[in-house]
Amino acid sequence: PAKLYIVATPIGNISDISYRAIETLQQVDVIAAEDTRHSGKLLSHYQIKKPMFPLHDHNERERGKVLIEKIKAGQSVALISDAGTPLISDPGYHLVNECREKGVDIVPIPGACATIAALSAAGLPTDRFSFEGFLPAKEKGKQDKLSALIEETRTMVFYESPRRITDTVQQVVNILGADRKIVIARELTKTFESFYALPAQEMLEWLKEDTNHCRGEFVLMIAGAVADSEAIPQVALNTLALLKEQLP
Ligand code: SAM
Repeated sequence: PAKLYIVATPIGNISDISYRAIETLQQVDVIAAEDTRHSGKLLSHYQIKKPMFPLHDHNERERGKVLIEKIKAGQSVALISDAGTPLISDPGYHLVNECREKGVDIVPIPGACATIAALSAAGLPTDRFSFEGFLPAKEKGKQDKLSALIEETRTMVFYESPRRITDTVQQVVNILGADRKIVIARELTKTFESFYALPAQEMLEWLKEDTNHCRGEFVLMIAGAVADSEAIPQVALNTLALLKEQLP
């Protein structure tokens, strides 16, 4: 029977795609993509010409049903996103969930993922980590989210946009403390790929130093809290800082 293939595509370097991914894209009947024009470039590079089907966050539930009908009628479908692994801060969850419920076969074709690439070269503990995706855009939401992570001991991984990275690191300083270790992975697999590892306060200064430092795509990794029975908990320190502001 026809299947749904979840195919990882490159996160920058066009060569970062597996033979199996190429073979799969050549074999399927339809390629569902977030942005058909963007994916068109990748496909034409590999000389793959297939009917495309737009599937993005805003139409996924409704368009997903059409795709499932196609699969049931015998057409194999590959799902790709603009970059990396579908469903990882990208569309596809509703489609895959629905396919599981309906007994449609789903086959993952693994490959690039910014989180895993970033972690693999960051130098932070990788035995356990927490993928946090994008932080809320609004200030309050972001602060609440970071506050809920004060005691998280695993390495935390965030996706972040150039517009928000400086403010986010400022919030990390305020909420998780100036000394909390941060690693930024920028422009992974691309010409200007670079890693920066600094305590939060120094990272903030570095970001503010030059607007070029905020350019590109970022994975932000934050070291987990160190369980130290002797130390004053960060929550207490934050409360103290708030009290100080209020006092004359
Ligand atoms: N599905 C993708 C994956 O598997 O990593 C993630 C998609 S998400 C919409 C896009 C975000 O991933 C970017 O804002 C950035 O935070 C991160 N990202 C994607 N490509 C990257 C790269 N080449 N270097 C650094 N971060 C990247």
